[in-house]
Amino acid sequence: MSPKTTPTNKDTFLATTACYPEKHRGVVNMPVYRASTILFPNLAEFEAADRGDCAYPVYGRYGTLTTEELEKTIALLEGADHSIVTSSGLAAIVLVLMTFLKSGDHLLMVDTVYGPTRRFCDHELKRLGVETTYYDPTVGADISKLIRDNTRLIFIESPGSLTFEVQDVPAIVKAARAKGVLIAGDNTWGTPLYYHAFELGMDISIHSATKYISGHSDFLMGTVSCKKDHYMQLLRTFRNTGACPSGDNCYLALRGLRTMAVRLRQQYEHGLEVARWLSSRPEVEAVLHPALPGAPGHDIWKRDFSGACSLFAFVLKENVPQATLARMMDNLELFGMGYSWGGFESLMIPINLNKIRTATKFAYKGTLLRIHVGLEDPQDLMADIARGFDRMKKAA
Ligand SMILES: *Cc1c(COP(=O)(O)O)cnc(C)c1O
Repeated sequence: MSPKTTPTNKDTFLATTACYPEKHRGVVNMPVYRASTILFPNLAEFEAADRGDCAYPVYGRYGTLTTEELEKTIALLEGADHSIVTSSGLAAIVLVLMTFLKSGDHLLMVDTVYGPTRRFCDHELKRLGVETTYYDPTVGADISKLIRDNTRLIFIESPGSLTFEVQDVPAIVKAARAKGVLIAGDNTWGTPLYYHAFELGMDISIHSATKYISGHSDFLMGTVSCKKDHYMQLLRTFRNTGACPSGDNCYLALRGLRTMAVRLRQQYEHGLEVARWLSSRPEVEAVLHPALPGAPGHDIWKRDFSGACSLFAFVLKENVPQATLARMMDNLELFGMGYSWGGFESLMIPINLNKIRTATKFAYKGTLLRIHVGLEDPQDLMADIARGFDRMKKAA
């Protein structure tokens, strides 16, 4: 069996790609290569590498066959020509920004972007002479009014981090094309299965593989996918900055991909079940889940996504004092309190949007909580939250 080149059905593709019985004596997975030194067969090859025309990576930092296998798989899954895997999701974002922006350039960044991306813009890009303008995620075609002569890149993250605003990507792409501006998207929430960045017209697609690709909360990684035209430029910056993943983590990412479709299908369904239940609760003002009918952004989600992950937020009717909220949070049995998401375990964190955003104002006054639904039984999860609501009521 050889790897599939056209993933007609993505479930089948993930289950069968990288099966190489003929190459590894029947072992069905790609072996882990751990490497710093990679030996050259002869002086001619050594000198060819020195001139930059060697067909394979010549140092561990540039990857091994394990890395290549992962990059090929991600590229096929994304419908891209190439992918590069990095040491974290943030490193993937930084790679894209560092590749395409230089001093004097202008960046249009969505106001609801992942916090560390924003900090990179406000501190590092600013120091390097790149100006960032934050735009409202609901801007749509009006983005054209914000494009300047020196605007080089529009950065999209849809739905937005923490509050899940869905962006009208085709409208933004149209405006950007008219003015020759590049479009990059952090598409972690949509996953490579449920969001088709290149079909929607993006030039660069980024994922934090730390989330559903890993699926087990045990390593960090990022991916950058692109068409042919942008690959060499990205590759050069990647090789000059050294944020490479280890062979072991590339292996774990390949393993995570095998079951991603199955995990996601269940998490999509169970996430919606919990979201629906929350929206029926008297304590809850709003549920911010793009796949929930009636929720903000649902129409665009329905048009542009083929599924949803299990990360969303909900707003309580009241702004609950810290001590009262602690009564709920500190005693949850199944939900852990911690960053990241996409793993097997459920998580809940309170969100404080104060002072984070500059282009938009959050519409709700009540306490905002972000939830990640893991692989537990949704009935158990809902019972856990219901007990938490009861504790809050008693404390109030
Ligand atoms: C987690 C996350 C990242 C960063 O990924 P790391 O692997 O943790 O560096 C980037 N973007 C989004 C939307 C995320 O949720």
